[in-house]
Amino acid sequence: MNRRALLRFAAGGCFLSLAGAVPTASALAQKSSVPDRKPRAPRMVMLDPGHGGRDPGAIGARGTYEKDVTLDIAKEIARLLGRERGVSVGLTRDGDVGLALAERVALARDARADLFISIHADSAPNPRARGLSAYTLSDRASDEFAAAIAKQENLADVLGVGTHDLNPAVQAFLVDLAADRTRKGAVEAKQQLVKGAGRDLTLLENPMRYADFAVLRAPDVPSVLVETGFLSNKEDERLLRDPAARRRIAAVLARELAAVMKSATFA
Ligand SMILES: [Zn+2]
Repeated sequence: MNRRALLRFAAGGCFLSLAGAVPTASALAQKSSVPDRKPRAPRMVMLDPGHGGRDPGAIGARGTYEKDVTLDIAKEIARLLGRERGVSVGLTRDGDVGLALAERVALARDARADLFISIHADSAPNPRARGLSAYTLSDRASDEFAAAIAKQENLADVLGVGTHDLNPAVQAFLVDLAADRTRKGAVEAKQQLVKGAGRDLTLLENPMRYADFAVLRAPDVPSVLVETGFLSNKEDERLLRDPAARRRIAAVLARELAAVMKSATFA
């Protein structure tokens, strides 16, 4: 067989295998009777106003309470983001009540949130530090947490499947996989949020950060903590205690969160 004939033969073989894949008329008829897939459920964002109740959070030199700033900004984001098509919004608190960090995480997980955003305006060690920044869980903390989960009974719950019959190595692999997906989603959301917000708001130097915050530890909900500014900084406090400036910050964050939820990672 010469080279040309060989190519023809290969092409013929290819055609035959494609022809084999063409569905028959009865298969098509069957397919058309299958109802269309249900429209996708709205993407859910759980907003978490930091602190509350007996925990005021940071207190600015002019007496501004972080718990009030975070609640006001989160409620305004919820109002604006709630208008977006295909996005639903929850709040871990909508009044001046205290919530344990674990409760906040549990609320996001119970709601099956696609993204968890904790809103803060803490103190920085350096009073000159100002501007918006965002944190995701550090790789080390996230690895340690995934390993700890692997040892716990609630593994099946974390993965949304019953995995009790699987051997430990496979279980560990599945936990790693789930934790990795969560971590990537969080980092992606953080990057988009900070980049977008930086077009209109002052950013902290090195605004994309990692830390071991307990509130970011949901193993299956990408979680980001946004420091809207620092109440330890005079200029930031002036802005954060001004209702109009808070509305502007909330509008920028709502706009960017809407974009995040429509991005390839979350849509
Ligand atoms: Zn805080």
